[in-house]
Amino acid sequence: MSKPRHPRGETAPKAIILPVGPRFVNRKLAFAPCLRPPLEYAPGVIDDVPLDELLQEVWDGRRINAAEAVRLYHLPLEDLGALADRRRQLLKAPAYAGRGNDIVTYIVDRNVNYTNVCNVYCKFCAFYRVEGDDDAYVVTHEEMDRKIEETLAQGGTQILMQGGHHPKLTLQWYLDLLSHIKAKFPQVNIHGFSPSEFIHFREVFQLPLEEIISQFVRAGLGSIPGGGGEILVDRVRQRISPLKARSDDWLEVMAVAHRLGLNSSATMMFGHVETLEDRIEHLGRVRAQQDETKGFTAFISWTFQAEHTKLRAPTVGAHEYLRTQALSRIFLDNVPNIQSSWVTQGPEIGQIALKYGANDLGSIMIEENVVSQAGATFRMTVPDMHRLISDLGYEPRQRDNWYQLVN
Ligand code: SF4
Repeated sequence: MSKPRHPRGETAPKAIILPVGPRFVNRKLAFAPCLRPPLEYAPGVIDDVPLDELLQEVWDGRRINAAEAVRLYHLPLEDLGALADRRRQLLKAPAYAGRGNDIVTYIVDRNVNYTNVCNVYCKFCAFYRVEGDDDAYVVTHEEMDRKIEETLAQGGTQILMQGGHHPKLTLQWYLDLLSHIKAKFPQVNIHGFSPSEFIHFREVFQLPLEEIISQFVRAGLGSIPGGGGEILVDRVRQRISPLKARSDDWLEVMAVAHRLGLNSSATMMFGHVETLEDRIEHLGRVRAQQDETKGFTAFISWTFQAEHTKLRAPTVGAHEYLRTQALSRIFLDNVPNIQSSWVTQGPEIGQIALKYGANDLGSIMIEENVVSQAGATFRMTVPDMHRLISDLGYEPRQRDNWYQLVN
């Protein structure tokens, strides 16, 4: 049997823009225009591998480097999407007893933000309040019970529990909350506390990360969300969240958690002050971490939402979102799942993203408080999810945090 060929085959254009220096400036533009200015500087990019050869190797599943990622990013969107879809198919073929390419998954869970009090003041955040604000809050056990009961009534299996970096909540407060939830709702997974929260805990509680995470696990923590990843490049973090955990901190928490047996997701928030190279560096750091500790179950990227925040940047549209998500599927060859972000892009683009490398539509998010305060107000029900997935020819299946099918 002959080897499958990339569909563009010999018809792929021979010229691709590589905006790296004078010797390329007169070359024919072969990529579709994207919404942000093209790169003016792409260190290390060379074009001595013919484009067809690169496309075929990506089609066959070969790992790409940063320079190749820049080339792929500038492909016509539909070509990049076809490559991402191919890589999704290669990765998911063995899943679900060989039905991994027939199925698109989703989870039913609820975001519970246990407090909105935070002393980190990220410029992209419209959620935080300071102590004393009229609408500052810390969730009570009774409120938490009600939220979880509502989640269970809708078939939910998990709460995604994150909060601000509250300066006064004690270690015992967190342990009591986790123990309370686990005792009352043992069937519910607590997917909680992003790496930047753990870095905050380390500073406030003056304990090693291993000790804090171990105590949280004993009290009921089941897995860790990848929140606070933003862009794992400190020059970018310094501009958008100067008081927040640095890139190495974020990765250190994940490494410790993975070594303690916890799984986590990895995330990226883009479309603000970062460059394409920064996004690719972010992907490179996630991939390197995954090579080492193998604990990331999924990668989720979304676009910065500017409303009510201090950070000003032109809104990233669907074109650039799809491009970036597709590239993440190709680059992160060791991360088994990619979630599309209907929450920031809307249900239709979230659906289309399933043809751009994503195999999961995320959560129906019974409650969401963070990006909604920054302007993203899309909503979704389980029937909506089923329709979006079925209309694309896939079988919709509910999953748990570990991508095991439920029901
Ligand atoms: S993003 Fe998180 S850490 Fe930053 S200000 Fe908002 S609540 Fe605080």
